Amino acid sequence: MTEITIELTDSPKEKPAADQLGFGHHFTDHMFIMDYTEGKGWHDPRIVPYQKLCLEPSCMVFHYGQTVFEGLKAYRTPDGGVQLFRPDANFRRLNHSNERLVIPPVDEEFALEALKKLVDVDRDWVPDAPGTSLYIRPFIIATEPFLGVHPSKNYLFMIIMSPSGSYYKEGINPVKILVEEKYVRAVVGGTGEAKTGGNYASSLIGQLNAEKAGYAQTLWLDGVEKRYIEEVGSMNIFFKIDGKVITPALTGSILPGITRDSMIKVLKSKNIPVEERRITIDEVVEAADKGKLEEVFGTGTAAVISPVGELKYLDKRIVVNDGKIGEVSQMLYDTLTGIQYGKIEDPFGWTV
Ligand code: PMP
Repeated sequence: MTEITIELTDSPKEKPAADQLGFGHHFTDHMFIMDYTEGKGWHDPRIVPYQKLCLEPSCMVFHYGQTVFEGLKAYRTPDGGVQLFRPDANFRRLNHSNERLVIPPVDEEFALEALKKLVDVDRDWVPDAPGTSLYIRPFIIATEPFLGVHPSKNYLFMIIMSPSGSYYKEGINPVKILVEEKYVRAVVGGTGEAKTGGNYASSLIGQLNAEKAGYAQTLWLDGVEKRYIEEVGSMNIFFKIDGKVITPALTGSILPGITRDSMIKVLKSKNIPVEERRITIDEVVEAADKGKLEEVFGTGTAAVISPVGELKYLDKRIVVNDGKIGEVSQMLYDTLTGIQYGKIEDPFGWTV
């Protein structure tokens, strides 16, 4: 692969104040971009000022959704440094998504080099207020101008970055979750384990219905029997039942979350029993009825941990741990954010 060229902006933007950040609204001064052309491969990697794209309306991504993306963060450490959390895992997952969407793979090491360069160029954009971070969005779109349904011959790989605010402004607040009865997110053999736009487009209706009913997110059940628990919104889900932590096994329709994997490793390192297996909503209801449902939490890059205080399934309302954050959830949150922000030692070698 050729050298990454760098074109710096001559009109840097004003950075938003920490309390104005929110999530996904503001973008840094620069972006990474690289082209793919059939026969030529990936070429012309470059860092350029953040800018609009000029694309033909016939580009295949607009019609058939051939696209993949990733999400990770850069964190400001106490000594003023900047670090990434398991970025190699994100580029590995990007290539798994690429395989499913028939998009040519990217060189994972090269992509990481490009990301490090980009973060370095926009280093001043990594916020330092408590809980804030720089959200990073690598993505690929199909750009061949053609209306037939086949894999595109051209693609763009880009990385854009967005300073983001503290997810929990008033401490960790347990959320209310609605178990979706009608719609499903993914099926085994479908695209559920790939990070591709269509999965999110199809999930919007569930999210909207949940919000209308006063819930924060949708809990998705499997697409065949609607009994097995899959994931929640854009998070993986964990249950603590009778002292054991259980998370749905990766059966093919669930996104393999990097936070999920990290949580499992932290739990194992602390000798807390953790099982990856199929779990039905009935098992959760039964555990709640018997007073054995101790904690429920979602895991993902955005929130790290999102404790669930209430689950609504059909006409049943399950209150978890009196709507308070549980001991294991708090420990996992403290451990992971401690490592991510460089405040505690990283025994796993996850930070870069
Ligand atoms: N499930 C879905 C559907 C997601 O979009 C995400 C966010 N990437 C996750 C789970 C959590 O994945 P991660 O821990 O890698 O952020």
